[in-house]
Amino acid sequence: MRIGVLALQGDFREHVAALRRLGVEASEVRLPEDLDAVDGLIIPGGESTTIGKLLVAFNLRDKLRAMIERGFPVYGTCAGVILLAKDIGGLDQPLIGTMDVRVERNAFGRQVDSFEAPVRIEGLGDQPFPAVFIRAPRIRDAGAGVAVLGRLDDGTIVAVRQGAMLGSAFHPELTDDLRFHQLFVRLVESRST
Ligand code: GLN
Repeated sequence: MRIGVLALQGDFREHVAALRRLGVEASEVRLPEDLDAVDGLIIPGGESTTIGKLLVAFNLRDKLRAMIERGFPVYGTCAGVILLAKDIGGLDQPLIGTMDVRVERNAFGRQVDSFEAPVRIEGLGDQPFPAVFIRAPRIRDAGAGVAVLGRLDDGTIVAVRQGAMLGSAFHPELTDDLRFHQLFVRLVESRST
């Protein structure tokens, strides 16, 4: 099994490092053919407008979308979950748009652009996850087929799963806690034959 990390912009190196700490083979994905060599893909945090434009420029967007629609596992963190969302409130930027969620970009206000909060995540045990938010989006709505895995104390949805798509508004790759990556690895394992 090999997991790819989309390496167009953003903090892809930290995701590769987290996967390798788990003993998982990981590789950077930049070209359409790189997708053929991986069993799942992490879309990192960064700037969703930039990553979206590069996805189109590198001819990755349509291929990736078709793969996801056939059940290819993906995990989007922060900008990554913005790119996966079907609805970002009408903003004009290229998306993959496969996940039935409505996301609001940069929704935590300036004074709390970045913060850390403990979030209990379904499937990760009782110990809360140290969730790091950096100019993070809020997941405003999740469709009927979307499982909410975690919320902030005020009810804001911050982690979701829909089939083989996983999303978080926060950045597990910036902590030493590998449980969220482990969750994705298990998802990929369960899908690959
Ligand atoms: N603010 C960024 C965006 O809207 C996301 C920030 C991040 O990925 N840490 O694309």
